[in-house]
Amino acid sequence: MKASQFLISTLKEAPADAEVVSHQLMTRAGMIKKLGAGIYTYMPMGLRVINKVAAIVREEMNRAGAIELTMPVIQPAELWQETGRFEKMGPELLRIQDRHERDFVVQPTSEEVVTDIARQEFKSYKQLPRNLYQIQTKFRDERRPRFGLMRGREFIMKDAYSFDRDPASAQISYQAMAQAYRAAFDRFGLRYRAVAADSGAIGGDLSEEFQVIAATGEDAIIYCPTSDYAANIEKAEALAPKGPRPAASKPLTKTPTPGKSTCADVAELLNVPLQTTVKSLVLATDELNDKGEVAKSQIWLLLLRGDHDMNEVKVGKLPGFEQGFRFATEAEIVAHFGCKPGYLGPLNLKQPVRVVADREVSVLADWICGANEVDFHLTGVNWGRDLPEPALVADLRNVVEGDLSPDGKGVLAIERGIEIGHIFYLGTKYSKAMNATFLDENGKPQFFEMGCYGIGITRLPAAAIEQNHDAKGIIWPDAIAPFTVVVCPINPDRSPEVKTAAEKLYAELLAAGVDVILDDRGERPGAMFADWELIGVPHRVTIGDRTLKEGKVEYQHRRDAEATPLAVGDAAAFVL
Ligand code: ATP
Ligand code: MG
Ligand code: MG
Ligand code: MG
Repeated sequence: MKASQFLISTLKEAPADAEVVSHQLMTRAGMIKKLGAGIYTYMPMGLRVINKVAAIVREEMNRAGAIELTMPVIQPAELWQETGRFEKMGPELLRIQDRHERDFVVQPTSEEVVTDIARQEFKSYKQLPRNLYQIQTKFRDERRPRFGLMRGREFIMKDAYSFDRDPASAQISYQAMAQAYRAAFDRFGLRYRAVAADSGAIGGDLSEEFQVIAATGEDAIIYCPTSDYAANIEKAEALAPKGPRPAASKPLTKTPTPGKSTCADVAELLNVPLQTTVKSLVLATDELNDKGEVAKSQIWLLLLRGDHDMNEVKVGKLPGFEQGFRFATEAEIVAHFGCKPGYLGPLNLKQPVRVVADREVSVLADWICGANEVDFHLTGVNWGRDLPEPALVADLRNVVEGDLSPDGKGVLAIERGIEIGHIFYLGTKYSKAMNATFLDENGKPQFFEMGCYGIGITRLPAAAIEQNHDAKGIIWPDAIAPFTVVVCPINPDRSPEVKTAAEKLYAELLAAGVDVILDDRGERPGAMFADWELIGVPHRVTIGDRTLKEGKVEYQHRRDAEATPLAVGDAAAFVL
């Protein structure tokens, strides 16, 4: 590809609504363009990344024996009524009508349609097992679409569905997918963890999430560094012993008096350092309009001081972002947030809130906060400007960093992750609801045993960026970079030698099958380098007059602080 013939449109500034670094950088690098809340155009540079992710996933799915098809984005309501999901699914399911006032849904996932295919196509046990998958557009009317491709409303998902004759065989199909996911995730070049997830009503252990590790992730992962134990929060909570915590790794040094605890008491109780730097915490609750955009924000200011009595926490209410605020009464706060009177720590807020850090708030990651109740506290609370979501990660009454791992092989640690994949054993939930059967050896109809397996194809690039970036921009792993190598000639118009050497290297790399781009736009070196550093191409070869006279070009990996001189003739071999 020649840059002059491609679409490169970088921006100096990120849009105001881009709260997380991946959203900021993807927009600035010209990879995505917002069309509406949670709806983005995948621009040419971004699409190259998405296509590489999809290609890896497709290869691994095919290798595992899954069969690709494409199901419609718009699906008749009748199938969704068979499973009851047309009514039961909340507002995330987008329901539309055609000109005849017939109901349709925009697929958020496709269990109904694929089960309908199976009941028509797989008539005999001899046709099983089968796994059908698609890489297709999904729509979920997320309550709060945000963070660019991370939580879009329209996004691309790979969704696979397995059909088996019995639970034992369904286990094998599930394990084949778990294996394929590991193979795909290994190839992305990201740090990730497969964690046990709750399989809900079905029970059993057959649900895992694939989480890309990133400090800014919305999910928390509980794992044991010295064993294989890893679970998402819900699962860890479900497994943890119920009831009051025994005085284990964090002994209670003091019982707080209800209604009288200070932050210092809580810190002592939880055996964590008192964070005296916390001066205030700004929380926001959003009201959305029918397009899902934030129509009105209520900003709440909580003054939390290390030396303050928790009951006297001052809570101010700022309508919009206007200057000046009045202190709200406790009764107002209690009514608005639905928290219990008596303790106003953020843990009591029943309504979803986000933290808009005040300038005075230092960034605090994974803090533990508590209130005037024994054994009632949160871990993994993040406060601060640089962190995307407040987070009330979960009401972790029973899981605390440092606890003994359930497998007894070490202690628990907590880190943050971004859910990129999710595999799930479904049993006969959908086949029973839709009367989807095949004939067994005895000619008797049996319900299909099913599994479903998703990967967030468009979420993955965002997660990759959250994990791999610096002040200059994105740093792509080779496997999913929009281009693997960029060739940057310096002032080629003034030096025919430079131009020729650049064209030659470009041609050599192209011929060797390298995904290379030649920057022939004629930009000044500073602007040219800044663009490629922002876009995050991992390998760069710079060709300038001065070094070329010595028979050299310069190689620099996106993570390198300095360029390395190479003999012109060795450059192609070096980057290959
Ligand atoms: P989340 O917990 O983030 O809402 P989910 O559990 O609802 O995700 P699944 O139903 O398990 O999502 O869908 C499979 C995969 O699709 C997820 O693991 C995620 O990678 C991706 N995904 C889900 N919702 C979105 C979204 N709004 N935008 C982008 N990708 C998404
Ligand atoms: Mg969801
Ligand atoms: Mg989830
Ligand atoms: Mg999920």
